[in-house]
This record gives sequence, C-alpha cells and structure tokens, in this order.
Amino acid sequence: MERYPFAYDHASPYVRQAGEWIADQLYDVLPEHGFEVRDEQIYMAFQLERAFADKRTIFAEAGVGTGKTLVYLLYAVCYARYHRKPVIVACADESLIEQLVKPEGDIAKLQRHLGLLIDARLAKSPDQYVCLNKLDEARLGHEEAGLYQEVHMDLPEFVHVRDGMQSFHAYGDRKQYPHLNDTQWNRMSWDVFQDCFACEKRHRCGQTLSRDEYRKAADLIICSHDFYMEHVWTYESRKRKGQLPMLPDHCAVVFDEGHLLEAAAQKALTYKLKHVVFEEMITRLLKGEIRESLAYLIEDAITQSESLFELLERRSEAIPGSDRKRIVLEDELLEEVRKFRDVLTVIEDELVYESELFMINEYQLRIVEEHLEMMQKALNLFDRPEKLICWATDSVNGLSLVMMPRTVQEVMRERVFSTAMPVIFSSATLSVNGSFDYVAEGLGIDDYLSFSVDSPYEYERQMKVIAPAWTYRATFSEKMKTSAELLQRSEGRALILFPSKEELLGFKREIVHYSECAGMRFLFEGDQEISHLIATFQSDEPSILCAVTLWEGLDVPGPSLSNVIIWSLPFPPRQDPVFMVKRQAAASPYEDVDLPYMLLRLRQGLGRLIRSRSDWGTAAILSEELHKQSQLREQIESLLPSGVALLEQW
Ligand code: SF4
Repeated sequence: MERYPFAYDHASPYVRQAGEWIADQLYDVLPEHGFEVRDEQIYMAFQLERAFADKRTIFAEAGVGTGKTLVYLLYAVCYARYHRKPVIVACADESLIEQLVKPEGDIAKLQRHLGLLIDARLAKSPDQYVCLNKLDEARLGHEEAGLYQEVHMDLPEFVHVRDGMQSFHAYGDRKQYPHLNDTQWNRMSWDVFQDCFACEKRHRCGQTLSRDEYRKAADLIICSHDFYMEHVWTYESRKRKGQLPMLPDHCAVVFDEGHLLEAAAQKALTYKLKHVVFEEMITRLLKGEIRESLAYLIEDAITQSESLFELLERRSEAIPGSDRKRIVLEDELLEEVRKFRDVLTVIEDELVYESELFMINEYQLRIVEEHLEMMQKALNLFDRPEKLICWATDSVNGLSLVMMPRTVQEVMRERVFSTAMPVIFSSATLSVNGSFDYVAEGLGIDDYLSFSVDSPYEYERQMKVIAPAWTYRATFSEKMKTSAELLQRSEGRALILFPSKEELLGFKREIVHYSECAGMRFLFEGDQEISHLIATFQSDEPSILCAVTLWEGLDVPGPSLSNVIIWSLPFPPRQDPVFMVKRQAAASPYEDVDLPYMLLRLRQGLGRLIRSRSDWGTAAILSEELHKQSQLREQIESLLPSGVALLEQW
C-alpha cells in the first residue's frame, strides 16, 4: 500500500498538500463518478484543514447531503498515513459504525472511486460479543436452553478443542445472530459484571480476539462514543495493571454525531454495583486458607451488602419513560452505605496482612483488591451527595446500583481536549439557535473552531411537515388513530420514532387492533439485531420501522422512508437523575436543559426523511404542547429547513 495518496513534497506542510489533494478529489475526481460538486462540501474541507493543521477542536455542523463524511474520512486517512497512527472515528452507537463500513457506505465509495486501499477496522463494544461464561449458564438454564446450545455448537472449533497448532480469529459478535431478540442476546452477551481479567477463557474469547484484530488498523479504527469514552477513563488504570489500553495510540479523533458525546462520557464514568457480583467475588477468598477473623469479616460484608441492596429495592421508584429507578438519598441509606464502606475498609487492611502470609492465591487476591478499590471509589461519591448522581436498574439477578459524578467537564477537559490532537465534531445538529455553547459547555470545551453549512436539498419542494390538531388532547388512542391514518396514506414506508421504550411497546400492543394497518409489516427495535432490522426495512419498501434509538444516523434514501412520525416531542424524562442534576445546575432549567436537548433531537429525527435530492415525503409531529404553547411552536418552526412551514392538515 502506497503510504501517501498523493506525491508528498517534504519541503512544504503536509496538511496543506493533503487539503489540495482532497479539493482535487471533490472538484474533479469524484464528479467523474457521478458525485455532485457541492460548495458546502468544499467549504467544509477548507475548514477542516485548519483544524488538522493546527491540531484544534472543531465543531463541523453540516446539513444532510453535504457529504461531510467523505470530507472527514479523506482527511483522516491522509493524517493517519502521515503520523503512521490510526485516526479514531467514533460514531454515536454500534448500528452507526456498521453503516460506515457497509458495502454501499462511504469508505467503500472512496476505495472504489479513488482507488484508495483503506485499512479501516471496527472496534465493537464488549457487549456486542458472546460471553462464553454466560453462554454456558444460558444453555444449562431453563429458558430456551436449546437455542443457546445451538449457539454453543456453532462456535469455532478452537473454543471446544484445545490443540497446540490452532490459529485463533475473532468471532461471536452480535451481527452473527440477527435472529435473536435483545432479551435473548442479553442472556449470553458480555455485561459489565463479567470479570474478563480473571477469566480463564479469555484467550479463546471472541471479544478478546477482536481486540488483536482492530489494533493492527493502519488508517481508521471505527468505534462507538461509548467505547471511546471507556478507553479514555480506563487508560491510566489499565496501564497501571500492565494491560493494553482499549485503543492503540492514535493521532486524531472524529466524533460523528458529536452532539451526543456528553451522554457517552457520563455513561463511561459510571460505577455499577450488584449484590450477587460482590458476593461471588468476595467468597473467592474463602476458597484459600484464611484466618478466621477475615472469614467473619467477609460474612459481615455479605450481610451488609444484602441489607444495603434490600433497602435500595424498597426505596427506589420507577421513572416513567426511563429504565432507571430513582433513589432518594435519605439518612438511612447513607448510613447503610457508610457501614458497608467501613467493613470493606477493614477487609482491605486485613488483605494487606494476609498477602504477607502467602496463604491466598496471589492472582485471586489481586482481583479482589482491585474490585474492592473500585467499590470504595464508587461508594466514596456518597460522601458528597451534592456531587453524586445515582439510580438503580433492574436485571434478572437483582438490582444494580449505578453511580456517577455530577459533571464530566473537568475530566473531559483534562483527558481529551487538552491533548495536542485534532478533534472533529461532525453532525447536522451541533448548534442551538446559532450557538455551539450547549454542546461545548456540556463537554468542557473552552476553545474551539466552528462553522455551519446548510443542506443543499430543496426542502421546500421535497418535504412537508404536519402537526395534526387534536380533539381529545392527543390521548394515546387519538395518536394511534392518527398514526394509522398516516400509515395508510403512505402505504407504510414509515419510520416511527418514540422517545421511550414504553411508548414503543404500547404502540406495538395496540396496532394489531387497527384494521387499516392489517397486512402492514411492522419492524420493532429490540426484536432483532439492529443493522439486520434496518437492512430489512430498506429492502422491504412498504415496511414500517418503529424505533427508540434511531433519531440519529439512520440513512435510508429512497421511498422506503417517505414518512417520519414523531410520536411525541423528545424532551428528556422529567425524573431522569442525570437531567434532574443538570436542571438544578442551570439558571433556567427549561431553556438551558430541556428545550435545547429536545430541539437537537427533534431536528435529528426530522432529518431522517430527506436523504437525497430525489427523496420526498411527510413528517408528522404528534404533540399537543406545540398547539398550546406559542413560544414552543415558534422554536419548532424555526428549526425547520428554510421554506418549510408547519401545517395542521395534510
Ligand atoms: S473473557 Fe470476559 S467475555 Fe470472554 S468469556 Fe471470559 S468473562 Fe466472558
């Protein structure tokens, strides 16, 4: 493979020459293969040149159809070749990383039309892989054991049989099991409570083997925001423990759909505790010969953990529209946490003494010590409840306690934005009312370049947006009826976006009773692997895709997606602990937190409709509020593409 895609003259700056070469591709070469010359795209290329040349952070807001992905990919490949290190392209979620590398995706287009050989590899999140331990539990369990037995039998030979001459390869990713729904998949996939470091199967595990493959990428490593943030937060601790960081050294980062990065940063900073996991971990010590006093302490710790989680169970309340349960930080709970921490501290001290006696296996001891250290860090957050966000979530084997610090800005500032490296935020929606402050402040970015370019499409001609008026205050059944009518008019071909899983499930239960939709094919997120579901939606033109997470990134040009139905305005849930804290810190909670969040999401959702010059269709916003609140209506009207009005009737 040629190192540079152009004849590099060492006497002048590399990035400038890369910029000239990229402009040539956009002006001359790509148009020969049917691509349009777009002023917006050329303008973006010039702006990105500044960010790469000066190693700056840039907000690149470019409307749908500007071809922004091609521009950042070209820079990323050139830059990676110069530095001999890959560029990380972090997409909002796992389904979007697949879209980038699909056969008709942008990387394939560049390879085909520019004759570039691009070494791009996917770094999928651990939860996208089968966990061999969980698979064993599932196939020996009671529910659908046969299904998991089949998965087990289909694993590569080297998982079942040990032989000195074997060559290993990555396997077992979510995409290989499109027929499983999310619940079935979750029973056998990695989760945060798996201790891979201590796992004896890790050298034959698909998740571990995938890391060896993507590390070798010469040009691009494509991962999700979550994965990149996990890399950032675990970087130091992995190095300390002698482990490789999750991602190799890289020379730049592109955050596609960059407006969503804050949520990923918060998620990666969270700690999760669960009683059964703690019990399983701490009882490992009982397998060695330990002193009686330590054995009693371990029993105390298990009892204390049990009592803490029982209290959490009693005191946590479900939050409508969210998987999270609210926890009230009252004195009784803080006292239970304090008692738990105390007993853990004594155990930690005892383990120091125990290690000198060499009675416990050193490896096991290290694992327990590390786990206790993590638990102490997490529980220490309760010392300053005003700096803590916590909630609970249900799972098959009990409640999980989830904790995270209030703000991620300081950590982001220190570990991401203070490094001398180009950081590109690319999205069609990074600004709110012309300002980038909402996204920049949320991430702790003080110094940045920015620009906005509009979409080249003629929305006035291609798109109609309606906000149906309501007779009965937009009740659930009234929305169902309106949706059924809309679906009938477009004969399916629709994407329905729900703000929460509960609303999607409500729709799924009811739609079977609507005769006008009989015979229509509905595809529901969660029923199958997501990229498989999207591919089915695209190929089966009249089908209807119902989703919660596809407000961003879904790119389905053509008649399959001629109708977008926004089930309700995507405000964050009222009781969500993360947003409650953001609201408390804001001078005007509604204006500073809820409204910008909703407007960005709504713009993204509406953006799914027109994906090419020949697309046309209707978007419907099912909301009662916008008919009652004139200011809200104005805000929504102002985010519509120029020339598009908000109609009440179709
Ligand atoms: S290495 Fe991790 S994911 Fe793989 S089998 Fe072991 S615990 Fe499961």
